Amino acid sequence: MDYPIKFEICPLCGSESRILETETQLLISSGDLAVGTKIPAMISNTALFNPPSTHILARKEVPVLTGFYDVCADCGMVYCVEMHKGAALVEPQIQRDNHGGLGGMPFMGKG
Ligand SMILES: [Zn+2]
Repeated sequence: MDYPIKFEICPLCGSESRILETETQLLISSGDLAVGTKIPAMISNTALFNPPSTHILARKEVPVLTGFYDVCADCGMVYCVEMHKGAALVEPQIQRDNHGGLGGMPFMGKG
């Protein structure tokens, strides 16, 4: 697959008009934003690895898919405009409890 993958039109109604893209262009035109600035409605980052491998012992680079989303100005559909593939460095994780010790599961109740 070749990245970035771009979606030029709304998958629901076929419109090319997007709210964040339009508002960003207006701010660029008025000089309030730098040329080339992009402000998506949402960004998603999805690391592609098995959850059990979060307990890796060494720093490791994993592939990450990053999606940039906007809102259709005609029907309100939120959809992916661009999908990029990159990499992120995963640091070893050491779980600490609320008393400074090691061990325990994250988010388990301690009051
Ligand atoms: Zn639409």
